[in-house]
Amino acid sequence: MTGPERKDTAEQEKSRGTRSSRGSRHSPAATAAGRVDGGSPALEARGLSRRYGRDSGLVRAVDEVDLAVPAGQALAVMGPSGCGKSTLLHLLGGLQRPTEGQVWLAGRRIDTMSERALARLRRDTVGFVFQAFHLMDELTAVENVELAALLAGRSPGRARRRALHLLDQVGLAGRATDLPSALSGGQRQRVAIARALSNEPLVVLADEPTGNLDSAATLEVLRLFEELRTAGQTLVVVTHDTRIAAVADRMITMRDGAFADDSRLAATATGAVHGRER
Ligand code: ADP
Repeated sequence: MTGPERKDTAEQEKSRGTRSSRGSRHSPAATAAGRVDGGSPALEARGLSRRYGRDSGLVRAVDEVDLAVPAGQALAVMGPSGCGKSTLLHLLGGLQRPTEGQVWLAGRRIDTMSERALARLRRDTVGFVFQAFHLMDELTAVENVELAALLAGRSPGRARRRALHLLDQVGLAGRATDLPSALSGGQRQRVAIARALSNEPLVVLADEPTGNLDSAATLEVLRLFEELRTAGQTLVVVTHDTRIAAVADRMITMRDGAFADDSRLAATATGAVHGRER
């Protein structure tokens, strides 16, 4: 992938996978280009917990997790259904509040942030991709993609140009004026990925992005994630699909709300995993 999504690779290499989850520096903000000033991780959590219910009905969906995701890292979070993957993603992206613990997004602490400030930070720094796409049915592909930029105050002309550019990058230049109902599942998810990139987010968070797709569409989406990873986009993908691991730098396996394994992966440009180290 080329253009605005391409980040400074030297900086990524410096930060990729080298920082302890106990790092103490937190800069106040991300840069306009979506990069974190001062070398903070793009995402960080300490002692992060989210519980539901109480007494015999208590569920520890996320249970005292520590995590640092450096800018430029592509992280896959795997594990069986119900182990806490989606809850973790929602906590990291500020869609849910933790029961305990701290979360930093783009160097800013979000677990204590007001709803209003959090909504603004989310809009400016996070692109979400969901299993069910969540496109607006009555808007065309290009309108879906440009909406986030318009809401962020971009001019209509600039938002439209960027949306068309992103649709081109996801291979859908010819479908810009189609409604989602005219698109296949894979094409809808590619529109959703283009939408997630609309505001040049520091981090893309994807929740089972291939969960509703057939094999061919899954491969299209995997290829896009591979391009994003190569371009240095910080990515966290939660999934059941082991093929996602082939486009990740790092894979965490969750069990019962906690991390059971945390591995560095060495992926080739074609996505074939050929080595790993702890
Ligand atoms: P995964 O994404 O790995 O399938 P989830 O994060 O969705 O797991 O869920 C983790 C655990 O938290 C599960 O036991 C689930 O039933 C429970 N859970 C998730 N959301 C809620 C909720 N809103 N109320 C009660 N329990 C919940």
